[in-house]
Amino acid sequence: MFTGFFKEFEPSGLFLLSPGKSSVMFLLMEGCDFVHLCQPDSGKSCGACCGLYNYADSSEEALTERLRKRTRLFREKVESEEDLHAFSERIKSIEDGTKRYDVIYCCEFLGFLDEDERRVGCLLHPLQNGGRDLRGVSFYGRELCDGHFCPSYHYISEAEKRSLIKILDGWYLYGLCVTDIDLVKEYFRLVSDGIGEMPPPGCFERPALRDAARRFFSLKASWPFRSTSVNRLGKYYFDGSQYMIRPIDYERLGVDKSGFDRIFLSLSSEFADGEDVKKAEGIIRCLIDDFILLFRKECNFTVDEETKVGAGEQG
Ligand code: SF4
Ligand code: SF4
Repeated sequence: MFTGFFKEFEPSGLFLLSPGKSSVMFLLMEGCDFVHLCQPDSGKSCGACCGLYNYADSSEEALTERLRKRTRLFREKVESEEDLHAFSERIKSIEDGTKRYDVIYCCEFLGFLDEDERRVGCLLHPLQNGGRDLRGVSFYGRELCDGHFCPSYHYISEAEKRSLIKILDGWYLYGLCVTDIDLVKEYFRLVSDGIGEMPPPGCFERPALRDAARRFFSLKASWPFRSTSVNRLGKYYFDGSQYMIRPIDYERLGVDKSGFDRIFLSLSSEFADGEDVKKAEGIIRCLIDDFILLFRKECNFTVDEETKVGAGEQG
């Protein structure tokens, strides 16, 4: 469930009115501790807890098409609360509702909030409907939609949140990454180990550093060793009755447990043999080291080359 909407932009920061938490106005600006992950700026947003990635086909192309059609239909057909039931039925009849996990609801009221299709969000929110809050008709109901904060709010640090928001652009990758706590924490841990401190969020305003970090997080959508099983999402898989984490069987693969194990799990990895593991480690190591070297160069940071982070050192 949900998210935040822009009330007003100011040079000093963004004034956000959370759709999920509609009575609260958040300030996202330097000096303010709260970072709004759901709708952080005009270039991205997240709709993961509304079931966005729970469709069997959750590719960017398929989700874009789904949200586009749905938003168009909503704008054309919904004029009042009385039209919502028909809208819901229509969506269920025309969309492929095949899910990854049956127990997770995929809300039919998630759509695009802006013309440019850069932000996903709740079509029932008052800011989308001239002040009328229509979320009472939803599966979760208004109160749950209004008050939900996912674990990322709690477990990802303020610096990590601010960095991630600067690194990523676009709703698809942003939503996938911001909800993957292990991936986010492991990345910043590894680069912090390499440069001796958590990189300040402001460094990701430099295009070279932002792009280097973005290459790492893009793996979430392009990882060559990602399992194609529909019941896998991140480190979880669903066996029909419960979520589980399937550990990587390094013994069977004939290699030691990788220092990048948490990252491999987050990327839903499936390896055929030890060679695959080595190749995968090489990809991650390269991306981490690239950032560290660039950071030293860009930020005039001098650290002995010997301290360079590598998979072997993570061991
Ligand atoms: S009504 Fe649906 S789209 Fe809106 S916040 Fe609730 S779950 Fe999300
Ligand atoms: S998963 Fe978290 S960040 Fe994403 S919309 Fe839900 S509460 Fe917001």
